[in-house]
Formats: sequence, structure tokens, C-alpha cells
Amino acid sequence: MITNTKTTETITPNLSVAEISQRIKHHLQFTQSEQNGCDKKPAYWRATSLALNDVIVDKLQRTKLRQQQSEVKSVNYLSLEYLMGRLLSNNLHNLDLYTPTQIALKNMGFELADLCEQGADLALGNGGLGRLAACFLDSLATLDYNAMGYGVHYQHGLFKQSFVDGKQIEQPDMWREFGSPWEVCRPQSSQKIALYGYVEDVAQTDGTTKPVWHAGKMLQGVPWDVPIVGYNCETVNTLRLWECRAEEAFDWELLNRGDYLQAHQQQVAAEVVSKVLYPNDEHEAGKELRFIQQYFFCACSVQDIIARFENQYGAIADSNNWSTFCDKVAIQLNDTHPTIAIVELMRTLMDDHNLEWDSAWAICQKVFAYTNHTLLPEALEKWSVALFQRVLPRHLNILYRINDAFLNNDVESLWPNNNDMRARLSLIEEGNEPKVRMAHLCVITAHKVNGVAQIHSDLVKQDLFPEFNQLWPTKLTNVTNGITPRRWLKACNPLLANLLDKTIEGDWAKNLNMLSELTTLAENSKFQAEFMTIKQQNKIALTKEIKALTGITVSPDAIFDVQIKRLHEYKRQHLNLLHIISLYRQLLENPELDIQPRVFIFGAKAAPSYQLAKEIIYATNKIAEKINNDERIQDKLKVVFLPNYRVSLAEKIIPAADVSEQISTAGKEASGTGNMKLALNGAVTIGTLDGANIEIAEEVGDENIFIFGLTVDEVKTLDTNGYNPYHYYENNAEIRACLDWLDTDYFTPGKPGELSAIKDCFLTGGDPYKVLADFQSYADAHKALDKAYKNQQQWAKMAILNTALMGKFNSDRSIEDYVENIWHLTPCKSS
Ligand SMILES: *Cc1c(COP(=O)(O)O)cnc(C)c1O
Repeated sequence: MITNTKTTETITPNLSVAEISQRIKHHLQFTQSEQNGCDKKPAYWRATSLALNDVIVDKLQRTKLRQQQSEVKSVNYLSLEYLMGRLLSNNLHNLDLYTPTQIALKNMGFELADLCEQGADLALGNGGLGRLAACFLDSLATLDYNAMGYGVHYQHGLFKQSFVDGKQIEQPDMWREFGSPWEVCRPQSSQKIALYGYVEDVAQTDGTTKPVWHAGKMLQGVPWDVPIVGYNCETVNTLRLWECRAEEAFDWELLNRGDYLQAHQQQVAAEVVSKVLYPNDEHEAGKELRFIQQYFFCACSVQDIIARFENQYGAIADSNNWSTFCDKVAIQLNDTHPTIAIVELMRTLMDDHNLEWDSAWAICQKVFAYTNHTLLPEALEKWSVALFQRVLPRHLNILYRINDAFLNNDVESLWPNNNDMRARLSLIEEGNEPKVRMAHLCVITAHKVNGVAQIHSDLVKQDLFPEFNQLWPTKLTNVTNGITPRRWLKACNPLLANLLDKTIEGDWAKNLNMLSELTTLAENSKFQAEFMTIKQQNKIALTKEIKALTGITVSPDAIFDVQIKRLHEYKRQHLNLLHIISLYRQLLENPELDIQPRVFIFGAKAAPSYQLAKEIIYATNKIAEKINNDERIQDKLKVVFLPNYRVSLAEKIIPAADVSEQISTAGKEASGTGNMKLALNGAVTIGTLDGANIEIAEEVGDENIFIFGLTVDEVKTLDTNGYNPYHYYENNAEIRACLDWLDTDYFTPGKPGELSAIKDCFLTGGDPYKVLADFQSYADAHKALDKAYKNQQQWAKMAILNTALMGKFNSDRSIEDYVENIWHLTPCKSS
């Protein structure tokens, strides 16, 4: 094998171990004033992070200058969520400073890997959508694009989860209780944001009138910048997070009137806007504060984008500049959460910069693009017109005018005099409480609308927006999601990364397609042994983590079968659970049953208000307790629910997984990205033909994945013909026995019926996600998987091929797709 062949040119900074030590010591002395006697790890973590941040900020300044001078177009990624995880290890890897820093710290008596565990996760997101935004920022910087991420500086990110007697308990996330070493406040870029009040038509000297918005309240947006370090390159971009405060002028007025306490109350009232991340994944609750949070974030970001443009190119109202704006600025909406940015840009261009309607609208159409993340109706945002009228009266005016133009021009030309079609496509959903359909505004405005995996994009065209697709046949498109191989292999799985380094010529982390070279080694027994030894070592490490977190002892010789993702009915953790109950039953009936020992590992947070999701967690914990303590089954089965699933926990679980559970009801999971992370680390997928699973199967081949269950079309047919879950209950004795078991007190001694909610959701609840319909097929796929694992050579080959063939699912490829089809950027490299 060829070793040491990295083709990397030197990237700055090229620091020696001594220089790194000196920088760390500087921060220990001057910003930490290190004390004797107390635990030194937090201080060393912070000093190391601050030392690194000095280096990063310097690189950031040079990137900014380069991007300004080159005048390349920038993309502005608007997302209410960023699931960044920890930053120290990744930043070190991306700067190629991991090893010298490791040595420097070792000389001071510390393990770097240990210190990296000190930092809190930046958990400013719920799940896949927020993690996607984080992976995209990593790729944008790595590919040297001029990109800015915009988000909210939540005081509390996603809640912390613990279990008490099997029940989920939520605690606030305090990620920056003592300040974060990565963020820098930039008060000079603060924004003032108006809301409430009324609109007055003010007569102009030329006889026309102009709408003037008299705001009832002002907020202040203060930006906190987090640097985004590209891998093995010169680019450091910025993630700008907005914190909400009261607008000072308003405070002063009250203070002058002697109303000191009320002035403070205004501050408190304003701070709630960026206080907490809404913990619902794929579900919109329609709360006023969330609406204001979205608007606050969008208004700050739009004002900032304009300010940055004008700073570089001059006033946007100058005749030629507004068309330049479209050439220099792209804005991507990550789901409909930031939709109001469209109306805010319209308002700003017209009211603040004196552009005509047509010019402003032309800009918006060229600048905005929108990513759809879900077809689930409960996740499609609709805000009441009454709320709009109260909070954003001027925006509602503009929205009505957009709607009028759309209905009277576009809809009328294709479907003349068609009131039904007008009602169907209108921005306003009529009814007792009229509502604004945010997705429609996105589709009408954006020049491109993308789904996140091929099947999902097809369904967006066919089922969600068929009429829009008729109106604009090239607008709807696909960009399959991806993940950054820097975090999800290089940093989280150092043993495998080392093996790849010595096996593959060239920087695979920058060109993941290089992994396909491994296909020729998939049957090489020496390589198989190396690959599987690493898996075993990672499993041993996870075994210790499981013991520390739950007290449960598991054997690293068992199959590690992993389902980690938000808890949601459509993701069907309860299908997994039903199958576990069935295996347990079979083992009790026949303790000699010939199956490979299996550890089922779960990680999932339930939205605090999602009752059934919490019942599923409770049931899983109770069933786990029973199974794990039942000596009759000789440790053939263990069930572990790891608390507080988050990025840093995913980084520990994924390298140790043998099996990846991707078992959503076909048509419900837009893409999934957990599936990609697990396969990249050599886990074999058991999954439905849903989301990116379909494309993963195409890449690895049917013989290297376990596909089961209904297809999208079969699910639809079942729905049209009337799905009856009782049919499966009555005709499948295994299903019946398992469900009836849930009614007893077997798993909850003395408390019969505690788990009945699970049975009920399958029967009286109508089993909306077709768990019973897919059960047998799922159980059969598991049997096939168990059999495949018995042949260790066969399994090693499958695992290696999964790693080898994940090149497509690298987020660099996703970003290049966006660049080519949607943003049209050119990279800005250092020469
Ligand atoms: C990748 C990731 C997700 C998304 O997982 P899916 O299986 O695609 O739903 C959610 N949460 C965390 C912490 C992740 O890292």
C-alpha cells in the first residue's frame, strides 16, 4: 500500500508544536488566569479553543478581503436551524492542526481527544434540516465559495434529554452559559427591526400616495459571528446568528419619563424573541412568538445582506445597481421558515430604497431559491391573516399584491376563469380563519425550488405542487442531500480515517469518490481483517460509553443495530420496537433459537408536546429493562436507549454501527442524512425504498443493502383502497401476540395498560404509517440480515462496499449541484 501521499499544498497557518503550546499558554495565563487545585480540563479546553480561534479569525479577515476584492457572487443561506455540534476537533482537522495540537497538549499532560469532549454542542437545531445546514456551511467553505450562513442566536438550543423511570425529561440547554470561545459579537452590524403598528397612505407631491408603515414596536438585532473553517483550504466563512434585544431609543424614552422598571421589562420582552429554539421537528405549532422570531431573523438578515452589498457596490437605488444586486447575491431559503424574507426584501426595496414594484419583484425572483424538506401536511407552514395584519400590516399589503398579480396573470393565462384553481393556488387559504400559505409564496417567487432526494423531488412535482409544475416546468428540481466527510468520517472515526489515508492515494476527504478504490479490496481478506478490526475497536469504545451512560453491559461481539434520529411516527421507531418484542417472544418460546446476539441501540428526542412519541420512548425503555434483565435469553438480545441524542453522541455511535435502521413509511422521509453517515462508516442499511435510501441502494447495489416493505406506489394504493390494520392483527398470529402482550403488565409490573397506547395507535388509531402492513416484510429482512452476518467474510465485504460507494452523498457534491443549477457562483481561491 502507498503511504504518506497526501497531495495537499501547505495551508496556512503552518504552526509548530512549540508555537501552538505558546499560544495555548498565553490564553491560560491571560484569559483564563488559571488557578491551582481545580479541574483544569475546562480551562485547557477553553484556552486551546481561544488559541485556535485567533488563528481562524486571522484567516477569516483575509478571506473577507479576498472575497471583496474578487467581487464574486455570494450565497446567503437562511436557516432557522444549525446543528453544529462541537467545533474544536473539526476546526483542528480542517486546519490540519490536530496532530501538532495533540502533541502540544500531551506535553502539558492532556489528551486532546479528552479535551474535545469538554465543549458543549452548538445544538441550534432539531434534526436533519439543521444538520444539513451545518454540513453545507462546511462544504461551502471547503470549496472556497463566498457564503454567509444566517441564523438565530438562541440563548437555549434544543433541550437536554434524560430519562427518569423510562420517561423523557427535558432540561434547558445552556450551551453558552459561560460564553462560547468561538463566537464574536459585532455590535457595529446591529439592525433595527420594526413590527406592529399601522400603515398610512401618505399623499406625495406628485399627487400619488405612498404607504408609510408606522411601527408600534422596535427590536434590535445583534449579530454573533461563528467562523466556518474550510477543510484544507484558505477559506473561513461566517455563520451570523442574530440575538434579539430591545431597541435602545425606546428604552431611553421610558427612562426619561422615569419609568425605569418598565424600560427593563421591554428589554426582557424583547429578549424572549431569541430565547429558545422551538423543539418541534416537522411540525408547526402556529405560535405568535415563533412568527415574530422568524420575521426578526429574516429582517435582520435581509438588512444585513443589503448593507453588505451597498458597502461594497454603492447604493442599491442607483439605476444600475439593483440589477448588479441579482448578479452578486443569492439567497437560499432552508424550508419555509424564512419565507417572510421575500416580503421583507420587497418592502425594503420599495419603502426604504425607492424601487418600483416591478424592479423589486424582478430582484426577488432572481435572488431567492427555496428548498422543500417535507410533504407532511402538519409541517407545511400557514400563518393566520389576522396575525399578519397585527404584526406585519405592511407586509400583508405587499403579499396581497403579489397574490393579485399571480392570480390575475399567471393563473388566469393558463386556467382562465377557473375559480377553483384560483382558490387552490392562492397565497391565501380561505375559511373561518384565513391563512397565508408560506410554501406557495416560496414557489411563486423563487426561480428554483428543490426537493432533497430524487424520489422526494418527484413527489413534490407530482403530489405537492403539480399545478405550479405545469405553470413553470423548469422551476422544480432536485438536489440530493449530502454530509460532510470531514466531521462524519475523518474526525469522528480516526481509526478508519487512518486506514483510508494509508490505502488511498490522495485526499479522500476532499474528493470522496476516491473511496471507490476500496471496491477492489472488498474481498481481500487482509483488508477485510483490518476494516473489521477497526469496527470491533469502535464497538468496544461504544460499549464503554453505553455502560457509562446507562449502566447496561453489552458485548461488542453482538450485532450493533442502530436507529438514531428524531422520534417521529413516520420514522417508525415503533416498527423496530414491535420487531424487538417479536424476537423476544420467539426467544422465550425457543431459547435455543439460532440468532446472532444483537444489541438494538436507539437515540431520539421527542418534541415535548408530542405525546405518542413520548409513549414510544417510555415503552422502549420499559421493554428494554425487561429484556436486558431476563437471563433466559442468554444475552442474545439487548436494548439500549441512549439519552440526549445529539451530534456529539452521533459521532460516537456511528463508527460502531453494524446495521443502520432507515425504516420510514415510503414517501414520508424526504431524504434522510443519518442513513448516509452510517453507511459511510461501514454500517449496512435495512430500509424502505424511501428518500435517499433509494439512491444509496443504487450506489451500493441490491446485494449490499436490505430493502423491505411497501413502495411509495403501494402505500398510495393501500390508501385509496382503504387501509385496515385489523386485517394484519387478525391474520398474523405474531403481530396479534405482540400487540396483546402490550395490554398486560408484563413489561410494567403492577401497571397493566401502561403501554396500551402503542397497541392502540396501530389499531383504533388506524396505523397511519402502515407499521402492521410492513411488519412481516421487515421481520423477513432481519432474518436475511442475521443470516448474512453469520458469514463474516460476506459481511465484511458488504460493510467495505458501503463505505466505498458513498462518494455521491458527500455534501461537496450537493453544494456543486446547487452552484451549477441554482446559485451560479464562482469559487474565490487564494492565488
Ligand atoms: C444526521 C442527524 C440527524 C438526521 O438524522 P436522520 O436519520 O436523517 O433523521 C438528526 N440529528 C442529528 C444529531 C444528526 O446528526
